[in-house]
Amino acid sequence: MRKDKNIWQEIGDDEKVEVFRFCDDYIDFLSECKTERECVEYMEELARENGFKSLDAYIKGGQRLTKGDKVLVNYRNKVLMLFIIGERGLEEGLNIVGSHIDAPRIDLKPSPLYEDEGMVLLKTHYYGGIKKYQWTAIPLAIHGVIIDGKGEKIEVVLGEDPDDAVFTITDLLPHLAKEQSEKKISEAITGEGLNILFGSIPEKNADDKEKDKNQVKMEILRLLKEKYHVEEEDFISAELTAVPAGRARDVGLDRSMLGGYGQDDRVCAYTSFRALLDLGVPEKTCAAIFVDKEEVGSMGNTGMQSRTLENILAEILNLVEEGGVELKLRRSMANSKVLSADVTTAIDPNFEGTHDKRNACRLGNGVAISKYGGSKGKSNSSDASAEFISQVRNVFNSNNVVWQSGELGKVDLGGGGTIAQFLANYGMEVLDCGVPLLSMHAPFEVASKADIYMTYRAYRAFYTDMK
Ligand code: MN
Ligand code: MN
Repeated sequence: MRKDKNIWQEIGDDEKVEVFRFCDDYIDFLSECKTERECVEYMEELARENGFKSLDAYIKGGQRLTKGDKVLVNYRNKVLMLFIIGERGLEEGLNIVGSHIDAPRIDLKPSPLYEDEGMVLLKTHYYGGIKKYQWTAIPLAIHGVIIDGKGEKIEVVLGEDPDDAVFTITDLLPHLAKEQSEKKISEAITGEGLNILFGSIPEKNADDKEKDKNQVKMEILRLLKEKYHVEEEDFISAELTAVPAGRARDVGLDRSMLGGYGQDDRVCAYTSFRALLDLGVPEKTCAAIFVDKEEVGSMGNTGMQSRTLENILAEILNLVEEGGVELKLRRSMANSKVLSADVTTAIDPNFEGTHDKRNACRLGNGVAISKYGGSKGKSNSSDASAEFISQVRNVFNSNNVVWQSGELGKVDLGGGGTIAQFLANYGMEVLDCGVPLLSMHAPFEVASKADIYMTYRAYRAFYTDMK
């Protein structure tokens, strides 16, 4: 019987230094990248510095792809896919680590601006599974893009610089919250109640006739135009989102943990990204894919349910091998092996009874594998085969990766899914494998630094040694 190990007790002083150094880099990434677009931009730049060239450049230049070549695809600025061509043929399949770079957040509605009681607020529609009460009375930043009427892109990051103003969603004072506090937690704050405080100075020279006419909104519109060249109609063609303001931080007196917004799933994105960057020429072609829209069901052209991966692989095959791409593509996909890199939960001492302790993950006990997810009798779950888990286990053990196995929580208590099932639809072998978190989907999610580093090592071992 495998005994769970605590990483801190397993590693030497040198590796402990490595853990902290790795997590310092990760903190920068997590602090700077709070939307999928920002993640793509950050990772693409670093990938190019590390020798990756865009697939388009290969196609347009009429260049073939051979072993050791590093290819990147930026798809609509929301999906990034990186490939390193391996020694063996693509028909033998790829080793893929797939994660998502979207995270729960508060999106602005297409017509967000309104004035009420001398204040301007922004209407929102939240994205993904949030506990709404957690998003009130905290400083928020606004990130995103506005595409104006001429197609010009305005990139927005407001509230991250210490000198910037921040935004917030107000909550009711406890003194008047008798009715609110008797409501169910899911109803105490409503979706339509998540309106963001945006301004309160009225227009100065409004004459008497104009006095009732949204003077604060007029003033905000003037400011938007003057400082940012933005018109009210521009919000229609924008993707703006409110996220927790400020940087990710060390947590704990011993600085053993790390807290910040969006670790689901940017912790697995970053660790798999670094694992691929640090790879030489692999035996099998390796890929790190970072997709969007996982938190809302992997829908749309940037979600894992789209044909994007398939289309890109067809292009790559066409540059590696001559002819017969269609059949080879099918074989390549069916023979691929995947770690669906997503976070899971760790046991939380504040919430006893949510886990079966014999099948739960613990903070600091290593990268977590989950044979299946889903809810209520494994519904909507991709169940990894025993054969594949044996191979993964073997790779981890021979690389001294500290790992653990756990379910998300108790049977019938809830559940969740990942992109695993959509990759499995191609016939790929897929196993969920990632970092255990506390406070998942909250504005401040916590992970163990040791688990983060061990997850990086796990993905690296998978790239190099998975047959
Ligand atoms: Mn996730
Ligand atoms: Mn999630």
